[in-house]
Amino acid sequence: MGCAAALALSDRDAGEIVLLERAVPGAEASSAAAGILGAQLEARGPAEAALFRRARDGYRAWAEQLRAETGIDVGYKNCGALQVAFDERGAGEIRERALGQAREGLSAEVLDERGARRVEPALSDRVIAAAYFPDEAQVEPPVLLRALVAAIARRPRVSVRSGVTVRGLLVEGDRCAGVRLEQGELRADATILAAGSWSSLVPGVPASMPEVKPIRGQLVQLDERPPRVRTIVFGDHGYVVPRGDGRVVCGSTMEDVGFRREVTAAGLASILAKALALVPSLGEAQVGPAWSSFRPAADAPLVGASPLAGLFLATGHHRNGILLARETGERVADALLHS
Ligand SMILES: Cc1cc2nc3c(=O)[nH]c(=O)nc-3n(C[C@H](O)[C@H](O)[C@H](O)COP(=O)(O)OP(=O)(O)OC[C@H]3O[C@@H](n4cnc5c(N)ncnc54)[C@H](O)[C@@H]3O)c2cc1C
Repeated sequence: MGCAAALALSDRDAGEIVLLERAVPGAEASSAAAGILGAQLEARGPAEAALFRRARDGYRAWAEQLRAETGIDVGYKNCGALQVAFDERGAGEIRERALGQAREGLSAEVLDERGARRVEPALSDRVIAAAYFPDEAQVEPPVLLRALVAAIARRPRVSVRSGVTVRGLLVEGDRCAGVRLEQGELRADATILAAGSWSSLVPGVPASMPEVKPIRGQLVQLDERPPRVRTIVFGDHGYVVPRGDGRVVCGSTMEDVGFRREVTAAGLASILAKALALVPSLGEAQVGPAWSSFRPAADAPLVGASPLAGLFLATGHHRNGILLARETGERVADALLHS
């Protein structure tokens, strides 16, 4: 969120911009994500649906812009997504979702078991129905973060300071006047809080700001040769995301365990069981790296002005921060420049 905001502000010539990061930009959730741009899979309610679709539909152009600026391909692929059901109850739910979206003019199809396997031949024969969302897409988050940092670093009047921890907000009277660092302070006309799962822990954050808390997610990458899976497949809280070259990212868990950065035996067992239930041939795949990170969870994303003058928010995106990154950058830049 910090990188996306810096880029959007620099596009608008917003003066001198400093990005502060205690490790390296992208060290946390943003590089750990699966990279699903799941606007139709994830949206709950009409307001989210419109925002999520705008975010997804703008991604191709953003990926092209980043490639033109940096030479880095962020792995944008319009690979489509299948949401599958193994029983009648699940089939009813996804049918309702897909038909509702189709009535709104979105690309969404209800498929029987044979139709689903035509889209994704590797699908389990236990699947009885599926909703197909051909416009869903993906990016590769670690590469996206590299491209964002490379783009920012090339901009005049933007500096990236890695290894710098913000110790607190500089609150003067009823205004945020910048931040306190380990050594000294950095004064600013406007400050954006984009500290992900750590946002509520920054001293000086207004008490009235809704809490952002970490929800751990674990992922494991498999390597299938030759590559078989073509489409993102979503099932009962499990998913597989094929990168197209044999790498398949399988996820995930949703765990309220504080900041315990672990990959657990139970986490891996449940992710692999769900992945193999969706695509049995993944049982032959080589097991690659596994990792975990923290989704910054709030009731809804916190974007724009805050209760403290001079402080703006770009946090709390929970499961959809990669999808919403560019939109968030634009919205927080709008709020800041029109305040
Ligand atoms: C397992 C998993 C899978 C996911 N899959 C998807 C997906 O498929 N699609 C999708 O859209 N989203 C996905 N997400 C969600 C997405 O990753 C997050 O919503 C998004 O990356 C959050 O971005 P952020 O910038 O708010 O947080 P982060 O990327 O965590 O960045 C916050 C940064 O702030 C820094 N920081 C914190 N405190 C301080 C301080 N005091 N001083 C200086 N720096 C500080 C941290 O070091 C960190 O780099 C997933 C998340 C997880 C964990």
